[in-house]
Amino acid sequence: MNDREALVSELVGDRADTWDLTGLIPAEPLRKLGEAGLLCGELPEQYGGLGLSSLDNGRFTAHVGSLCSSLRSVMTSQGMAAWTIQRLGSAQQRADHLPRLTSGTLAAVGFSEPEAGSDLSAISTEIRPDGDDVVVDGRKVWVTAAHYAHLLVIFGRYGDGAAAVLVPADAPGVTVERVADPMGCRAAGHAGIRLDSVRLPRDHVLGGAGAALTMLVTAALSYGRMSVAWGCVGILRACLAAASCHAKSREQFGRPLAQHQLIGGHLADLLVAEQTATRVCEHASHRWDEGSPDMVTAAVLAKHVGATQAAAAAATAVQVLASAGASDGHVVARAYRDAKLMEIIEGSNELCRLMLAQHALSVSG
Ligand code: FAD
Repeated sequence: MNDREALVSELVGDRADTWDLTGLIPAEPLRKLGEAGLLCGELPEQYGGLGLSSLDNGRFTAHVGSLCSSLRSVMTSQGMAAWTIQRLGSAQQRADHLPRLTSGTLAAVGFSEPEAGSDLSAISTEIRPDGDDVVVDGRKVWVTAAHYAHLLVIFGRYGDGAAAVLVPADAPGVTVERVADPMGCRAAGHAGIRLDSVRLPRDHVLGGAGAALTMLVTAALSYGRMSVAWGCVGILRACLAAASCHAKSREQFGRPLAQHQLIGGHLADLLVAEQTATRVCEHASHRWDEGSPDMVTAAVLAKHVGATQAAAAAATAVQVLASAGASDGHVVARAYRDAKLMEIIEGSNELCRLMLAQHALSVSG
């Protein structure tokens, strides 16, 4: 275990289930991880970041995901915000805002709206120039980490195109309201955001404004997909460890569960799932680190494989533990709820399959 992993292991300890049940990660671990630059580890050193490769940050993300998917979700949001500013911001905007994300400021990213879920072309949030300012009006839903965030990266319509705008969470006209009782990742701070005539200096609009919405959104979502995919590897590792441990120690019919062949089959399935997701994530991170044109598709593939494998494997792990894992407060019960949500976010299973089908059509003669 490297120093980064040791720090996060110490900060999470055995508290992930308590955080899940109370729906809250305390401020202290978030502050410590934020200030250490660990919530957005790929940010270059010039902005106070760790400058990790996608592969190294992915492996760290898997470690966090194996401990607590809520914390990993907060990390995904922070990394996605950092990536968006890095990709879309001017040199001045990067210099102004990125060092904040490695010194304790927490961020969240809002795309989704009540009428714009899978179909982000239906976004209606408006970012309107008004003299030296812009005025933002709209509503975002289910924004991960918004409850904790000091800075909101909000996507909206801007003239004939689209833009992302940096909105301080305490700006007049911003209301953040938590999602009540989320099914999983309960401590990830999901919230709805209302933006009522929020007036901001024009330089809060990230450069590239007026570009096509799809282009802006794809950049941000690709980072999110990589992070979720690696987080799912973590869920898979937690499930494999819990199921193996239980199968060795629990006896029925006079021998350990592991010696019943059908349970052995479940353990094999868990190992195959964990190894498959890991290899696909490694492939995607290599493409990302090379700056390959394939990286967008590789990220979709990794996210889809990770999420579907994690959701199936978490159900298998609950099956192996049976009543021992069937209550809230157990790692496999938490994994079961968390993993299901991974099949919805950053491109649902269906949307990922549609994108992969498009890719298959484009590469087949
Ligand atoms: P819908 O779009 O209404 O889809 C319902 C179902 O129909 C899904 O199964 C979908 O796959 C399917 N479907 C839709 N269109 C098609 C199609 N063309 N073909 C086939 N099937 C289709 N949003 C943010 O902006 N920021 C966040 O940080 C964020 N975090 C989230 C965290 C969690 C835990 C959850 C649950 C959601 C989060 N979201 C966030 C919102 C998320 O992006 C949306 O839930 C997701 O895009 C799906 O949209 P929807 O829920 O409105 O479902």
